[in-house]
Order: sequence, then structure tokens, then C-alpha cells
Amino acid sequence: MPIVSTRSVILQTYRYSDTSKILRLMTRDHGPRSAIAKGALRPKSKFGGVLEPFAEGEATMYLKDNRDLHTLSEFELIRDRQRLGVDLPRFTGASLACELVMRLAPEERDDRLYRTLLNALDALLEADQGQVEQVALSAVWRVVRTLGFTPELAACVSCGRVLEEDGARFDFSAGGLVCGHCPRGDSPGRWLEPGELRTLRRLEAGRPLDASLDSGTQPGLLRDFIRYHLAEGTSLRSLEFLDPRAFG
Ligand SMILES: [Zn+2]
Repeated sequence: MPIVSTRSVILQTYRYSDTSKILRLMTRDHGPRSAIAKGALRPKSKFGGVLEPFAEGEATMYLKDNRDLHTLSEFELIRDRQRLGVDLPRFTGASLACELVMRLAPEERDDRLYRTLLNALDALLEADQGQVEQVALSAVWRVVRTLGFTPELAACVSCGRVLEEDGARFDFSAGGLVCGHCPRGDSPGRWLEPGELRTLRRLEAGRPLDASLDSGTQPGLLRDFIRYHLAEGTSLRSLEFLDPRAFG
């Protein structure tokens, strides 16, 4: 039963008993892991109430072979990020980034993904109030891309025609754009006007954002892409909040 110590981000927590908590962690050195923090809910717990989502710390765990649940012995806090919980758009973006990592991260060390997740959380934490929505969309797209689900936004996925200034249909299940000349079929998707497509490309590529950019349909596009392309029928809890009404 080796003891390991690794930087970790808390993705999700839930109560396990009257006194203990189970944490879903993204560890830097061992990929996603679950750990039980015994006694974490006791008033005088050694964990001191820091085991909350989005916090990063140095986690010391007993890793049990062939077991899904490890035992957390220490969590030395590096950054708490509690302010992400104070407004819904920040919280929604952070929760979705964490949930995607929890479900789709490879079961091994992935430095790029770990860094992308931290950058996403910090960008949300530091975003100016007027730009939270764009920052959230861009941050989640970056996580999606780092997980290996890059939508094809340059050329038609059906005929290969390069799409520059034209509108196109975002076909969610095909994972990219289908031009106006190709048959649309009955797969789920949505027609994008040229301006909407430019905004999507900008958000997806993580290019500098602009306060005057109208995000309009973008939360719905990201939500539907994730739903059809990544979540494959399972429901992501935080996805329900990714709706224009959540931002405003
Ligand atoms: Zn085409």
C-alpha cells in the first residue's frame, strides 16, 4: 500500500457518512483518482474544511492496488478558489471543466490536461465581470480540445470544402461543420451564420476575446457539442446549467 504525495485538484466532493467525504481528484502524477477523507466533516478535522471543489493542494494518499477508492491522509492547500462559487457563470464553467476531466481524463499522468484544467479555473477566477461568459466558454472549449475532442471548424466534414466566410451547419454528432452544399441528413445540428461561426472559431481556439463579442448562441453550441459528441447519452450534471439563461 504505497503512500504517494502529488499535486491535485478537487473536482467534486460528496458526503459519505456523517463524518467522511469522498473526493474526486485530478492528480498531477496519477491521473483521476477517488479518495476518502475520513473525519473530514468533523468540526476539528485535520483537513480544516478546505476539501472543496476547485481547490488545489498537495494530496498525500494511500494508494490501494486494485481498488477504486484510496485513502487521503493529508491535503496541504495551495489555492482554494472558493470565489468560483459566488456567481453562477463562474461556477458553471468551473463545474463543467471539472466534470469533463472527471469523466474523460486518461487513467494516467497527463501534464497537459492537468495544466489546462488549472488554467481554466484560474482564468474563470480572474475574469472581469463583463467577460465571465466568454472566458467560461473559451476555457471549457480548451478542456474539450485537450481531452482530444477537437471539432472540425475549417472544412466541411462531408466533402472537404474549405469554409471561410460562409455559414455552415454545425453537425454535433459528426463533430464538425457541414457545408450548405452537402445533404443535411437528420443528425442533430444547427445552422451557423458567418458571424456565429467566427465567434465559435475564436472561442474554440482560445483567441483573445472582446467585450463587444456577442456570445448569443454559443453556450447552446458548446452544450450540444458536448452532449452529442462527448457525453454520448450520459448526462453531465453541470451541462444543464450551460444555457443562455445561466449567463446574464
Ligand atoms: Zn460539404
